[in-house]
Amino acid sequence: MRHTGWTTVAATALLAAAGCAAGSPSSTSSRPYAAHTPSAADRPTLRPTALPSVRSPRPLVRAAKPPPPPAVRATPARPAPSRPAPSRPATTRYVFPIAGCAASYGRSHHDYPATDIFAAAGCSVVSPVAGRVDEVSYVDRWNPSTNLGADRGGISVSVVGVDGVRYYGSHLSSVAAGVRPGLSVAAGRLLGRVGNTGSARGQAAHLHFGISWPTPAGIWWVRRGEIYPWPYLDSWRAGGSSSPASAVFALRARLGVVPPCTSYC
Ligand SMILES: [Zn+2]
Repeated sequence: MRHTGWTTVAATALLAAAGCAAGSPSSTSSRPYAAHTPSAADRPTLRPTALPSVRSPRPLVRAAKPPPPPAVRATPARPAPSRPAPSRPATTRYVFPIAGCAASYGRSHHDYPATDIFAAAGCSVVSPVAGRVDEVSYVDRWNPSTNLGADRGGISVSVVGVDGVRYYGSHLSSVAAGVRPGLSVAAGRLLGRVGNTGSARGQAAHLHFGISWPTPAGIWWVRRGEIYPWPYLDSWRAGGSSSPASAVFALRARLGVVPPCTSYC
């Protein structure tokens, strides 16, 4: 009886594996193993009398694995798989841009899309994604009497992510050591500290967080934000990896790389 159960499970798994490789070429899980797919001529050997040959395409069996079959699990002495690890992650990893502190934010922003993330002064501002530092403002030049749009961010850092999206954090109290344009950063890399520089002077410390597409230097009215970040912040804070890339690029296609300034111009 036990032998019969083994046969049924092994044959079922192999049929499922063959069907997966042949019928789902777009499946990422089956792609790395396509070269190991048994040919039709091999199938007659995949019988109980030739069990060792069953083991060679084992990754396929695992990839197509239905509910765990106890008989297969009980099989002794299976060799450890030696398949190579994937060369890159399937999705871009994102992290919430405030680390190690309580933070809160709403779903609206004055005049243009962005999210103000309130956290205590001095809290860590980190890169939400791997990428490269774009523009850095090390000095607070904001003057309330002129209130120039270019100065309203105070001390700020922007990063162009590996996803092609630009992320901007402003009103910082300081820029982290070593952060300069062109620096490669990992997701979670310290960029600066929460503060209230620029137009946030005298107000509660917060991180103004903007999402846009890359532009030539100095296009601050795009850099400050083009789409609302809060849905992505919700995802990242919960450990998700929702990407704003498609929304950003769709808007850029509609507006152009440098659309006209519409507020604080
Ligand atoms: Zn803001």
